[in-house]
Amino acid sequence: MEELKSRNQVKEQYTWDLSDLFESDEAFYSAVEAFRPQIVSFSEQYTGKLTDADAAAGAINELKSLVETFVPIGTYASLSLSADQSDPGAQKLSTASSNIATYFGSETSFVKSELLALDSSVLEEIKTKNPDLEVFIDDLLRQKPYQLDPKVEKVLAAYSSVFDGPYELYTKTKLLDIDFGTFEANGIEIPLSYLSFEGELEGHENTEMRRNAFHAFSDKLAQYQHTTAGTYNLHLKKEKTTADLRGFDSVIDYLLHSQKVDQELYHRQIDMIMSDLAPHMRRYAKLLKQVHGLDTMKYEDLKMSLDPSSEPEISIEDSRKYINDALGIMGDDYLGMINRAYDDRWIDFVKNKGKSTGAFCSSPYGSHPFILITWTSLMTEVFVLAHELGHAGHFYNANREQNVFDARSSMYFVEAPSTMNEMLMANHLLENSDDPKFKRWVISSIISRTYYHNCVTHLLEAAYQREVYKKVDNHESVSANDLNQLKRGVIEEFWGEDVEITEGAELTWMRQPHYYMGLYPYTYSAGLTIATAMSKRVLAEGQPAVDDWLKVLKAGGTKTPVELAQMAGVDITTEKPLQETIDYIGELVGELEKLTDEIEG
Ligand SMILES: [Zn+2]
Repeated sequence: MEELKSRNQVKEQYTWDLSDLFESDEAFYSAVEAFRPQIVSFSEQYTGKLTDADAAAGAINELKSLVETFVPIGTYASLSLSADQSDPGAQKLSTASSNIATYFGSETSFVKSELLALDSSVLEEIKTKNPDLEVFIDDLLRQKPYQLDPKVEKVLAAYSSVFDGPYELYTKTKLLDIDFGTFEANGIEIPLSYLSFEGELEGHENTEMRRNAFHAFSDKLAQYQHTTAGTYNLHLKKEKTTADLRGFDSVIDYLLHSQKVDQELYHRQIDMIMSDLAPHMRRYAKLLKQVHGLDTMKYEDLKMSLDPSSEPEISIEDSRKYINDALGIMGDDYLGMINRAYDDRWIDFVKNKGKSTGAFCSSPYGSHPFILITWTSLMTEVFVLAHELGHAGHFYNANREQNVFDARSSMYFVEAPSTMNEMLMANHLLENSDDPKFKRWVISSIISRTYYHNCVTHLLEAAYQREVYKKVDNHESVSANDLNQLKRGVIEEFWGEDVEITEGAELTWMRQPHYYMGLYPYTYSAGLTIATAMSKRVLAEGQPAVDDWLKVLKAGGTKTPVELAQMAGVDITTEKPLQETIDYIGELVGELEKLTDEIEG
C-alpha cells in the first residue's frame, strides 16, 4: 500500500476543474469584496420598507439574485477545502466564505422577519401577484408560528458561524489531528488512515489484515472519544436550545419540520427496518461466514464482500461505458450531462492527503454539479459514481426548472434519485451476464453496498440518533460513555446472536459527519424505499415510468416528499413500499444463497 500523495502530486486530468466557478483564488476574493457593498445597499434600501405586497415582492426578488451571487462563492470555498483540508490556502478561502455568509445572513435576516410580521392576507396577495413566489411564501407561512422577535433573529443569524463550530471542530479532529500511524498484519507494517480504512481495509478479504486494521483503527479513535463527544454535545445543545426557543415540542419535531414529513414516516422507517430487515441481514451475515470459512462472524467482518475475487477491476475511462449503458434509459439529455461530467472535469477522482472521505455531489445553482469520489479501481466505484450522478441529475434538472429558493427538495427525498441510479446499474449488470459468479458479485454488491449502506449502516445511525435525541429532550447531556452504550445497544439489537460485537464497534458513532446534519441518516432508507419501488416500475413499464421520474426530478423543492413520491406512483403514507423493499432484500439474499449453492456445487 503506497503512501498517500499530496494534492499537488496528483494527475490534474482526474481532478475537478473549479475554474467554472472562479478562474482563480484572486477572482474569488474579488467576488467576495464586490459582494459586500451589494449586501449593504440591499439592506439600506429595504430595511423597514416591507410594508405592502409590491415592496415585499421586490425585496424577495432582489434577495434571490443576491443568493445566486453567493452560491459560487460558498461552493468554490467548500469544494477547495474538501479536496485538501490541510491546505492553508483552502482554509483561508473557507474562512472568507464563512465570514461573508454570516454577514449576508445577518444583514438580510430582516426580510424574513418583516415578511412574517405582515398580515397573512398580504402574504396571500404576494402569492397571487407572483405565482413564482408561491412555494417561498408557503414555506414562510409554515415557519410563522416558530419565528422569534426580529432582533433576536438578527442576533442568532450573526452567531451562525459560531453555531457551525461543532461540525468544523469535528472535521478538524477527524481529518487533521487523528494520526492513525501504521499497524501490523501478516508480518508487514501498513499505513492506516480514514481513507485507507474505509476505502479498502475495512472490507479486506484477508482476515488478519481486516481485523488488525479494525483494532488499530478503533484504538486510535478511542483516544479521541471525549473530545469528539464534547464537540457533538455542543451541537446537541445548540439544537435543543433552538428547538426550545422556537417553541417546538421536541428536537425531533424541530428537525422534521424543515423536512416536511411527520413523525409517523420517521418512526416507521426506523422501527420496521430494525424489526423486519434484521432477519434477512442476519442470513446474509451467516452466508458471509460460511463462504469465507470463518469460525465466528465478528462486527469487523461485516463489510467484506461475499466474493472479492469476482469483483472486476475497472479504470476511470472504462467506467464511462458502464455508466452510459446503465443510465441510458434516462434519455439523451441526462446522458449528455453525464458525458460532460467526464469531459469537462466535473468529477474529482484522485486520492490525496487531506481529501474528504466518502463521496458527494455538490450542485451549485447557476453552474453545474461537482462530484467528489476516491477511485479505487474496483467495480464498486461504478455504483458510487452512478449514485453521485443521481444527485447530479436531480439538481441539474431541478436547478434549470426552478428558482433558487425552490430547487432543493426535502432532505427526506434527496437520496431517492441517487439510489435509483444504483438500482439501474445493478439491473443493467444482471441483465447482461450469465456468469453465476459475476451475478453473485452484483447481487452481493447491491446487498453489501446499496442496501447495507443505506438501510443498515445509516439506519443504525438513525436508530442511535433517535436514542440520543430522547436523552437530549430529557435535558440530559451525553458523554462518550453514553454514546458508546447507545451505539452498542442498537448494533446488538440488530445483529442479535449472529454477529459478535467486538470491542471498538461502539465507537462507530465517531465516524459519521451526518450527526451534524439533522435527521439525515434515516432519509437514506426512505429515499431507497422510493427508489426501489421506482426502479421496479422502470423495469416493468419502461418509458412512461422514466418520464414520471424525470418530472419528479424537475419538481425540485416545489412539492413535499409525499407528493413527490406520489408523482412517481409510490404511496409512502402507507407501509407498503417499505414492506416491499424489505421483502425484495429478502429475495436478493435468497438469490445469493441459491447462487452460492450452485457455485460451490
Ligand atoms: Zn447520496
